[in-house]
Amino acid sequence: MPDSDGSRAGRTPTLSTVLRCCAALAATPGRLLRPRQPDTALLAGLTSADAPPATNTVRLTVLNQATMSAPETIVAEGVRSLRELPLTMAAFLIEHPRARFLVDPALCSGVHDRVIPEMPFPIQLLVAPDKPVLGLADALAARDIAGGDIDFVIPTHLHWDHVSGLLDLPASVPMKLPAVEHDWALGGPHAPIGVARGPLRERTFDLFELDGPPVLTFARSKDLFGDGSVVLVDLSGHTPGSIGVLLAVDDGTRVLLAGDSVWSKLQIELLREKAPMPGLLFDNNRDAAFATIHRLHALPPGIEVIAGHDLAAVTARAAKN
Ligand SMILES: [Zn+2]
Repeated sequence: MPDSDGSRAGRTPTLSTVLRCCAALAATPGRLLRPRQPDTALLAGLTSADAPPATNTVRLTVLNQATMSAPETIVAEGVRSLRELPLTMAAFLIEHPRARFLVDPALCSGVHDRVIPEMPFPIQLLVAPDKPVLGLADALAARDIAGGDIDFVIPTHLHWDHVSGLLDLPASVPMKLPAVEHDWALGGPHAPIGVARGPLRERTFDLFELDGPPVLTFARSKDLFGDGSVVLVDLSGHTPGSIGVLLAVDDGTRVLLAGDSVWSKLQIELLREKAPMPGLLFDNNRDAAFATIHRLHALPPGIEVIAGHDLAAVTARAAKN
């Protein structure tokens, strides 16, 4: 198993991971029959603040890198369906008048050998995408872009499938992210489940706080360029520093890249969290994650929400490129 010294030190011990998997599995059948009910008081109390007016726009290009699938009823618990939901792993290229950057530099070439073995058993079996994978460098090269042409990256969160593409980028490309996310992923003796520390090593981090006002139904924000074109919003719960990226796109649309706050828009429409398996493994704070789904559900019309793994949403956006 390819495994550097550092990655071994960063691993969650396998025994505790197996026990967590067992607990998650045991809790799942009941939830498939009786999904968690929406918090009607929370929903009734949500208001929507205006997004800052956009005086610039960005070009958004989807880089679809891999596919996989999961039963619909575990992605949105309690859905009465035996259907396998097609999922994707994707990066998003954003071109702003002042910078070219990536939201979620998702997968490097050879990710099955270079990153996934860093995850403890049995997580590595659960998360691997189908082969082949289009590595980030190849995805960029297909658009005549070199890694060195990228000014910075912003992950929606630090799970492995949103940052492994860093291995295809020069070490000089900095990463912007909330300080709380950095400290959660890299602060303890072991990497949290879903985090691979290898791609994060020897990176330059530009840490920030979401210290701006409420935007839409989200409590905190950061207007990245001060022009309303790229506004980061608080989607914490899935991980402590999960963010959404609200874009004013040059085709006139408003797009919210929602990371893994939901895996599918089905969760937003039905107001459903993931089933305990996988939610108990991969959602850091289930209550906060469910509250964030309420905020997505309560969004005003006209926002195109793209969940990071929602193949249908990602494909629909790619068709507009
Ligand atoms: Zn993910």
